[in-house]
Amino acid sequence: MTATTESLMLPQTFKFTSAEHGAFIDGTETATGGSTIDTLDPATCRVITTIAETDNETVDRAVESAAKAFEGEWGTILPARREELLHRFADLIEENAAELAQYDALEGGKPISHVESVDLPLAVEQFRYYAGWPTKIQGATVPVSTSDTHVYTRRIPLGVVAAITPWNFPLCQAAIKLAPALAAGNTVVLKPSELTSLSSLRLAHLAIEAGLPAGTVNVVTGTGAGTGQALVSHPKVAKISFTGSEATGRHLGAEAGRSLKHISLELGGKNPHIVFADADIAKAAAYAATTAYFYSGQVCFSGSRLMVERAVLDEVLSAVEEHADALVLGHGLDRSSTMGPLSSATHREKVERYLNTVSGTGATVAFGGSRTKESGYFLEPTAIVGPADTDPVVAEEIFGPVLVIQPFDSIEELVPRANSGQYGLTAGVWTSDVRKAHTVARQLQAGTVWVNTYADYNAAAPFGGFKNSGFGKDCGPAGLDKFLDTQTVWMSLA
Ligand code: ADP
Repeated sequence: MTATTESLMLPQTFKFTSAEHGAFIDGTETATGGSTIDTLDPATCRVITTIAETDNETVDRAVESAAKAFEGEWGTILPARREELLHRFADLIEENAAELAQYDALEGGKPISHVESVDLPLAVEQFRYYAGWPTKIQGATVPVSTSDTHVYTRRIPLGVVAAITPWNFPLCQAAIKLAPALAAGNTVVLKPSELTSLSSLRLAHLAIEAGLPAGTVNVVTGTGAGTGQALVSHPKVAKISFTGSEATGRHLGAEAGRSLKHISLELGGKNPHIVFADADIAKAAAYAATTAYFYSGQVCFSGSRLMVERAVLDEVLSAVEEHADALVLGHGLDRSSTMGPLSSATHREKVERYLNTVSGTGATVAFGGSRTKESGYFLEPTAIVGPADTDPVVAEEIFGPVLVIQPFDSIEELVPRANSGQYGLTAGVWTSDVRKAHTVARQLQAGTVWVNTYADYNAAAPFGGFKNSGFGKDCGPAGLDKFLDTQTVWMSLA
């Protein structure tokens, strides 16, 4: 950590990052012992803190603690009390927002102003929304065609949920999994990314402060292959809720198949963001740049594939470039930063490999493409114009500040091209023609379609992908449903 970074930290952030952190089990952080991992500030490449690589035995203790809380206090708590506790949890997140935001800004390199204005409100909203549910989870009476019989269903929690989150939205993703899982009555073992564990650990402390029984929320830190694998293959885990890469999603899908666990997967996206010539071009271009470079493009629903009607291609490109030029690359805790670094050295190299493939394909790097600072994993906002649909920069998720821009000439040509990718997470459509907007929206193979806007998100609105973007929706009633099962009770009245 540099002296400048330290001076930007709140005293409580400084204290928490200065400690070594073990797993959080049964209401308390365990001693580290065993092997540890240093987490780095991606803007300076300096060590921020040390977390445990939680070993198999400790993962087992975490799952046992969650299983005990499920059988015990949390599993038997009355619905109204569950609601109260979830609201109290939300209150505490709000009260500690400034501190929580600093962890994600430090470890993730995200501009603090974005974490405060986007991630924190989204996390609180998840708890507030799902806090309203426990008293409304209902079964049904079933009109079976059998005489003298009364049949009804009960909606019941699944048990211990393994919640696996990625490094790009640590706090938000934890909230998106914890809030509905807890509202449904499950207990949770959360495994954050080894790059960004601090906000999840702090959340677990807040859960206890809010009054949730020990064991209801546990956190195991560590790598995917070690700690994560031990967690998802534990026989007492009933459900895996995963957000991350397609490759890990496929692996966990196979794991869930082997051990017959419930699973939901929110994976990658290469999202067509479509601008028709009749759109409000200035607004569309502003959104195009914002969504492409927000958090350096390390967002699954980033509008990373901009498809522009040919007549306005040059106009859109120069407006996007103007927005990109105005971005201020800097440290997450620096309030003047509007774009941070990439998450790690390996990740930046992966993004750069995509850029190196561009020469010789007929496409051009219109702007950007270079490293900008001596330290930190920074990469300029970049645009590639004119790649073919089959080019890896179009077909694959780059997960960096790289916007690919492609012209199109008609709706008939556009729709199959927009749907040609392997993913189906989100899409955007800009047009002033309502009929065109609805026609295209319903033809796009994307779990969410935004019209004349992009990246709106709310706890009430289902979110999740089609095709290789995974299955199982977050948010709304569907987000709760995937943490519940149904029991059918037949009673003879004869
Ligand atoms: P990314 O490349 O974006 O880091 P990953 O899918 O590798 O995406 O990681 C997302 C989350 O999944 C992280 O918390 C990571 O540690 C975890 N993870 C990776 N591999 C496994 C695994 N085999 N079992 C459980 N969790 C895993």
